[in-house]
Amino acid sequence: MITNEIYPFLQAYALIIGLVVGSFLNVVIYRIPNNKSIVKPRSKCTGCENQIAWYDNIPIISYIILLAKCRNCKAPISIRYPLVEFICGMMTLMLLNIYGPSFEFIVVVLICYMLIAITFIDVDYFIIPNEFIIFGFFTSIIAHGFNLLPLTLAQGFYGLLTFGGTLFLMGALGTFLFKKEAMGFGDVKLGLVLGSFLGVELSLLALFFSFIFGGFMSIILLVTKEVADDHMIPFGPSITAATLLTILTKTVGGGNYIINWYFTNMWNGEYFF
Ligand SMILES: [Zn+2]
Repeated sequence: MITNEIYPFLQAYALIIGLVVGSFLNVVIYRIPNNKSIVKPRSKCTGCENQIAWYDNIPIISYIILLAKCRNCKAPISIRYPLVEFICGMMTLMLLNIYGPSFEFIVVVLICYMLIAITFIDVDYFIIPNEFIIFGFFTSIIAHGFNLLPLTLAQGFYGLLTFGGTLFLMGALGTFLFKKEAMGFGDVKLGLVLGSFLGVELSLLALFFSFIFGGFMSIILLVTKEVADDHMIPFGPSITAATLLTILTKTVGGGNYIINWYFTNMWNGEYFF
């Protein structure tokens, strides 16, 4: 068992791993939608094409030292790079604290990285590349095959049907009502993958928040005139945010804080009777 003395080191290690993965995710987010290799070549400045030296590629720190400008051509570096690194680092640390050093933690953290990459790509390109769906299913098969999740294979399968199936039905209904594609098939595939990790109960929670977030986002974007009335609003980021909220609200016993709160307050008579 991991003793309390080395736990702070484990946390520091998780944070650093998260920051480094965030740096890699920046490459993934930039290259996957453009069908470029994520392995090589090494990262270049998008302004002057100069290869970025390792000491200018340290997560967050390099961005601050370089004052957000390329060392060579002084082209501005987007705040998004350190932002993705920061989000990844913090999520890794938080998930370690919630799930503890376990196989479940590794599975959840991999899904979290996948969700972060999908969020940024979907906002930019309105697509969820199949590479992520394949990665998700592969991770799910490994996780279920080796029993790394507190979830039976059947529960995973019902979760898959719940999450993916609901999105599919909503999309079909929307297409029927509005006479145009209401939900991308990428969202449905993502729902199938996520449901297999969550099971039915957590899938319903994630779905619920997906629609809340999606509704809020639509209202904000339409009111601020960021999108025209007939324009597409990506639903992927609402799904990813809702799923992250769901996996971040796990209780020590394996339950979920929001679900516990719901059943305690809604069904013991406090609000309804
Ligand atoms: Zn440059």
